Amino acid sequence: MRSVPILIVGGGAAGMMAAAAVSGCGKKALIIEKMNQLGKKILATGNGRCNYTNLRQKPEFYHVDETDGVWEILKRFDEKQAISFFKDAGVYPRERDGYVYPMSLQAVSLRNCLQRKIDKKWVHLEEEVLEITQNMSELGKCTGFVVKTDKDRYLAKKVIITAGGMASKCHGSNGACFDILKSLGHTIIKPVPALTWLKIEEKYTKLWAGVRVNGKIKAYDENKNELAEDSGELQLVSTGISGIPVFQISRYISRQLEKTKRAYIEADFLTEFSKDELLGEILRRRQDEQELEASYILEGIMNNKLVDAILSRAGINKNSKLKDLTTEQCEQICSLIKKFEAEVKDTAGFDNAQVTCGGVSKREVNFKNMSSKICKGLYLAGEIVDVDGICGGYNLQWAWSSGYIAGISAAGGK
Ligand SMILES: Cc1cc2nc3c(=O)[nH]c(=O)nc-3n(C[C@H](O)[C@H](O)[C@H](O)COP(=O)(O)OP(=O)(O)OC[C@H]3O[C@@H](n4cnc5c(N)ncnc54)[C@H](O)[C@@H]3O)c2cc1C
Repeated sequence: MRSVPILIVGGGAAGMMAAAAVSGCGKKALIIEKMNQLGKKILATGNGRCNYTNLRQKPEFYHVDETDGVWEILKRFDEKQAISFFKDAGVYPRERDGYVYPMSLQAVSLRNCLQRKIDKKWVHLEEEVLEITQNMSELGKCTGFVVKTDKDRYLAKKVIITAGGMASKCHGSNGACFDILKSLGHTIIKPVPALTWLKIEEKYTKLWAGVRVNGKIKAYDENKNELAEDSGELQLVSTGISGIPVFQISRYISRQLEKTKRAYIEADFLTEFSKDELLGEILRRRQDEQELEASYILEGIMNNKLVDAILSRAGINKNSKLKDLTTEQCEQICSLIKKFEAEVKDTAGFDNAQVTCGGVSKREVNFKNMSSKICKGLYLAGEIVDVDGICGGYNLQWAWSSGYIAGISAAGGK
């Protein structure tokens, strides 16, 4: 059994940052990573451009409040420190509306820069941690951890778990470490997919595939209580609805589906018009363009494919003449555009989610140093903890902040 001072489980964003922090304190940490390279998920972030932080920071962007310890960690290694950390290593920032990317717009440059800060000899790739147990002395004191992998066994004085959540399994994180943490006495808040698209899957959704509109979307429970709201570009797909605003509300839908199996959305597909203005326009066109087919009722204002989906949902033949539409039907079209309600059949699941909502209970983490309150010598960072940020660089910022603090704390630095 090989002895190591610090063992890091998972070489993703948080694990690499933790290793860099340990090495910055002049100490050594062994990273065990099950994939064939470090930071595989980083390469996929921001569509390959890696939106690695954001200049706008608020506790609510991480679904925590200011009194929450999470915010202290985010302040101790904040976005400015993350930017200078990478800049000092040669990755200059490129900022757009607060969103920060590497100047190269290549995620790989950021991953490589982190990799250069880690001693290659202290990285084991294609090795999976299967079990962690506390090593107890004869006096019943925990003297470290026995870490069993598919290839070896290690005795580690301290362990930092940065194995991610369950989102995007193809990049390595599959949630198996939640069971390891349970076996060590931790409580896991049930993980659900977040930052993902939503399945509606009705006959009409096939008609709107490929359409993008500027809109607003709300999430509701079955009692019509509003859970969340967001606006921006909605992307309509053949089996549902996607786009950043949908991603932002998806964690609430996921939780609701997990709780009661029923969740709803309400969309406004034409935020530029009030309901009255839209109805006025529809009635005017019915009057002025009597021979036109219903499909073209909002030509020049709204994508025809979306209009066809709305007509199908309303049970109106898209080939009927405008003059044949009743005022009630015109009102119905208007209502469906301004207040489109649908039941969510499901989220697109962990495979299509960017992050996990849920994980190790925040109550069991000491937010002074990212150590476990349950197991002395154990540290946690990144997505494995029950913290998920909104879309826009916040999840990586959490990985940098928590990974850095876990690393320096485990190394005994300040
Ligand atoms: C497609 C996509 C795009 C994204 N875009 C952005 C973005 O632009 N900005 C942003 O802020 N966030 C983005 N995110 C989210 C962000 O990537 C994650 O929040 C972040 O990577 C989490 O870091 P982590 O280190 O906690 O976990 P991960 O990056 O998931 O790393 C965990 C690592 O642990 C390894 N591992 C797991 N179990 C074991 C085990 N038993 N033994 C050994 N190794 C193990 C995994 O292989 C993995 O490498 C995106 C996510 C996805 C999927």
